[in-house]
Amino acid sequence: MKVTRIVPQGYCMGVVRALKIVKETLSDYPDTPIHLLGMIVHNTQLNEALVKSGVIIHQDALKSRSELLDEIQSGVVIFSAHGVSQEIYDRAIAKGLTVVDASCPDVILTHNVISEYLKQDCRVLYLGKKNHPEAEAALSLDPKRILLIASEDDAKALAYSEEKTVAITQTTMSQEDVKDWLEILYQKRPQLFLCKEICAATRQRQDALLDIQDDLLVVVGDPLSNNSRNLARIARRRHPKLTVLFVSSVKELKNQDLSPYHSASVTSGASTPGILSRQVIEYLEAWPKKTVFPPLTADDLL
Ligand code: SF4
Repeated sequence: MKVTRIVPQGYCMGVVRALKIVKETLSDYPDTPIHLLGMIVHNTQLNEALVKSGVIIHQDALKSRSELLDEIQSGVVIFSAHGVSQEIYDRAIAKGLTVVDASCPDVILTHNVISEYLKQDCRVLYLGKKNHPEAEAALSLDPKRILLIASEDDAKALAYSEEKTVAITQTTMSQEDVKDWLEILYQKRPQLFLCKEICAATRQRQDALLDIQDDLLVVVGDPLSNNSRNLARIARRRHPKLTVLFVSSVKELKNQDLSPYHSASVTSGASTPGILSRQVIEYLEAWPKKTVFPPLTADDLL
C-alpha cells in the first residue's frame, strides 16, 4: 500500500524533556525509590517500559494527585509533564521527599498566564478535559475564580454575566472544540476574550490533518492520550468520507481487512513512541503481506 507519513510525528519537546528528566533521576539516585506521580505522559507502553527500568508509578484514574501522593512515604517523587499544583509541590517537600519536576514548560506557561489574569481580577474559564491532571493543576490556582468548561453543555449552562472574563485553553485541546464552545461562550460573556494556550506540538499535528488525499487514516496513540484521541476526532469531522482507525500499536491492525483501501496516511499523538508509528507504516507498506515484529524492549520505547 502507498503510505504517507504525516509530519510532525514522534515525541514533542515536552515528552522528550520529561523522559530525559526521568532517565537522569534514575542515574542520579540509583539506591533510592523513584516514584512517578501519575503517568509521565499518557502512553501505557511507555509507562510500562519505565516500570521495567525501576520507576514506581502511582496511577489511578479515580484518584487525585493529592491521594496519589498519600501513597508515597519516602524517596524521590517525579511530577509528570502535565504539571502539578503548588499545594502538591509543598506537601511533597513537607513529607521529606526529593522533588523532581518534569512539568512541560508549555504547561507552566499556561499556569503563569492564568495567574496573570487572576491578578487582574478576571474570571477565568478554563477550556479543558474533566479529571485530567493538567486541568486539575490549572484549576488549583484558584478554584473559586476558575471555572472548568469541559463540553458544549458546560458552555450552554454558564450563567450570563458582564464581568471581565478570559477563556484559557488546555494545551492539548481540539481547535474545533474551542471554536464551537467559544461561539456559545461569547453569548454568555459579552466581555470575553480568548487566550489560546494550545501548544505548538498539538496545533501542528492538528493542522497537518487539513489535507488528506488517501482513503484511510491511521492515528497511532494511547486511548488515554487527549491529543491522540483529538487527532482522530478532528480527522473524522474534517473528512467525513475518510476511514479513520485509531490504534495503540500495530497489533490492532492485524485483524483489520485493509483490502478496500488504496493508500493510507499515518499520524500519531505527541506522546506516542516513534517506534509504534514506524511499525504501523512498515506494516501498511508491506500489506497484504502481514509483517510480524519482535517484541519491543524498554530501550525501543524510551
Ligand atoms: S503536548 Fe504540548 S503541552 Fe503536552 S507535553 Fe507536549 S509540548 Fe508539552
